[in-house]
Amino acid sequence: MEASLLQFFSSLDRSRFVDDPYKTLAQVDRPLPIGYGQTISQPSLVLYMTDQLQLEKTQKVLEIGTGSGYQTAFLAQFAAEVYSVELLGQLQCRAKERLDALGYRNIQYKLGDGNFGWAEHAPFDRIMVGAAPRTIPQTLIEQLAPQGIMIIPVGPTYWQELVKVTKDETGRVTEQKLLDVSFVELVEIRN
Ligand code: SAH
Repeated sequence: MEASLLQFFSSLDRSRFVDDPYKTLAQVDRPLPIGYGQTISQPSLVLYMTDQLQLEKTQKVLEIGTGSGYQTAFLAQFAAEVYSVELLGQLQCRAKERLDALGYRNIQYKLGDGNFGWAEHAPFDRIMVGAAPRTIPQTLIEQLAPQGIMIIPVGPTYWQELVKVTKDETGRVTEQKLLDVSFVELVEIRN
């Protein structure tokens, strides 16, 4: 793991991303509630997922599920531009305040269903998904650039596999299972 990532991880105060009464628990390596039935992952998992994404300062990243904005800060720190999609306006609003206060100016926010990605800005060099669909949305695979990497939890409610999806320069897609994980579900909006 890059020293700069570890250094950033230790310097970022997670208590900024949770509300009372959870601030006092922010340094503990466990998930915490962020309201509306959603959770912020344990810090070690955010670190691991960020490391697996192999970010470079030239890249354009799509994030699905802004949540508290904690994971977003890692993406904004190590990539060029971040496009972050969140379904819930209240969470998006607070995440944006926190990330603005930290000085990040390379994040664009969108309110909507992340199952559809963000077509106007596709393709993305990297995609980080913070909520679990049952199967990988085809739209996200389509919005991944050649030589791209996507990290996504996939599976039923309560437990999933964390999967690393890679697309080679010819567009061929491969999937590698990384870990068993438990994320909140990626909500599907039906019209
Ligand atoms: N990585 C985040 C935690 C994300 S929790 C952090 O560091 O805080 C999962 C987030 O995904 C929640 O904020 C939830 O509202 C959002 N979400 C769930 N379904 C979604 C969908 N279809 N589109 C966009 N966001 C969604």
